[in-house]
Amino acid sequence: MSSINQLLADRDRAVLWHPCTQMQDHEWLPLVPIRRGEGVWLEDHDGRRYLDAISSWWVNLFGHANPRIGAAVTGQARRLEHVLLAGFTHEPAIELAERLVALAPPGLSRCFYADSGSSAVEVALKMSFHYWRNSGRPAKTRFICLENGYHGETLGALAVGGLPLYKEAYGPLLMQALVAPSPDCYQRADGESWMDHSRRSFESMARLIAEHAHQTCAVIVEPLVQCAGNMRMYHPVYLRLLREYCDRHQVHLIADEVAVGFGRTGTLFACEQAGVSPDFLCLGKGLTGGYLPLSAVLTTENVYSAFYDRYTSLKAFLHSHSYTGNPLACAAALATLDIFEEEPVIERNRELASRMGEAVAHLANHPHVAEVRQTGMILAIEMVRDKASRTPFPWQERRGLKVYRHGLERGALLRPLGNVVYFMPPYVIAPEEIDFLASVAGEGIEIAVAE
Ligand SMILES: *Cc1c(COP(=O)(O)O)cnc(C)c1O
Repeated sequence: MSSINQLLADRDRAVLWHPCTQMQDHEWLPLVPIRRGEGVWLEDHDGRRYLDAISSWWVNLFGHANPRIGAAVTGQARRLEHVLLAGFTHEPAIELAERLVALAPPGLSRCFYADSGSSAVEVALKMSFHYWRNSGRPAKTRFICLENGYHGETLGALAVGGLPLYKEAYGPLLMQALVAPSPDCYQRADGESWMDHSRRSFESMARLIAEHAHQTCAVIVEPLVQCAGNMRMYHPVYLRLLREYCDRHQVHLIADEVAVGFGRTGTLFACEQAGVSPDFLCLGKGLTGGYLPLSAVLTTENVYSAFYDRYTSLKAFLHSHSYTGNPLACAAALATLDIFEEEPVIERNRELASRMGEAVAHLANHPHVAEVRQTGMILAIEMVRDKASRTPFPWQERRGLKVYRHGLERGALLRPLGNVVYFMPPYVIAPEEIDFLASVAGEGIEIAVAE
């Protein structure tokens, strides 16, 4: 007799086309239909449970079916589900903007809503370009980005990404960005500190900015962790130098904190660790605690005022998405911020983060692990074929997928990026659950590197 999982998977495959998926894989790789969630746990239709070690693609902060966020959303649904945000407004959008502006690094005093991380990136890119155009600098048309960076999948966001896997097929459609080497500390020399490596790799960025400032709108980076780029990490000094150079050469700085914002790296925003304020701060994913799609771009009064004029000057930012500032999503975000306000989330995360580090520390000595690295609530384990030379396993072997499958068997949702196994769990994970993940990951790596 077929399980309910199986029946749902069959119906799914008849009509659905899944994101980021070669659908043919599902001829042999079972889809996992989830019927409910609670805290860090997901439960499928056959009653099997999975610990969500990756926060459902990095969006969840305080657990699935969080009663508090759920109540805020249902309460809002009874009052007002949606109203357009042009000409009209509503209290959740106002209050959320007030609170984000108060929490964000200094100087970011304006909030523009969108509905996904990618659309927030599109907004920031367009606003930056349009700022320079409105300011009499129309020659500024280009963007500088980082190798191995990721900013989403829409064409503008893809163009400033640095991951060939997602980008290559669409090359002919994309604007040409200027690409600087990644400050990624996995590539540091033997004995070199993270700080020295990041400082040294800034030299190429410095040259690129100096040479192209006249035609460059902005530099866009993911602060501290290139998440989709295999969780590669770098030192905050890079952001400090970047801020200095952008200022010196009149180039905007766009901080894409869609993945690293809201406590992920050990501070509420990653930029805080470098003591810098970007010109544009992109927020998404965890903004609603993982409940609903919502994103925001925070920017400065200086940027805002370059658009503020008589209607006939045609300087306005005429960008919109239908669900901009959706009240249900804003209510979820407000409840999420309430939790940050009332509970010692950042301090608690510090303890959870050190537990994560301890739980997998032994893997650093594994003959097929090149590095165990961590920034706050993100921990990554890099599997390699040869440890001494750091030769990766060929991507075609899909070693990470073996870890994924082992995880499912053992009751953990681990979804490695290539050969990198990582934990990015909801902040409500218990210490024993961290230990459980560590043992599942350890076993999975053992299986994946065999033969
Ligand atoms: C996920 C991600 C995005 C894209 O967000 P979506 O909501 O998936 O469009 C943009 N930037 C970064 C850094 C991300 O991790």
